Amino acid sequence: MRRSHHALTTQAHAECGNCGELKRPHHVCAHCGHYDGREVVAAGKALRGAVRA
Ligand SMILES: [Zn+2]
Repeated sequence: MRRSHHALTTQAHAECGNCGELKRPHHVCAHCGHYDGREVVAAGKALRGAVRA
């Protein structure tokens, strides 16, 4: 019974408004670097340090 709470939860996701790729809501799109209708980060650049997990 103890492990009944260990199930994985579904990860939050949303479609990018620019490229349509799935991205995490309220985060810069990792595919095109857009957020809130404008390009924030150069496309293709990985956001290793800025985004958790
Ligand atoms: Zn995108």
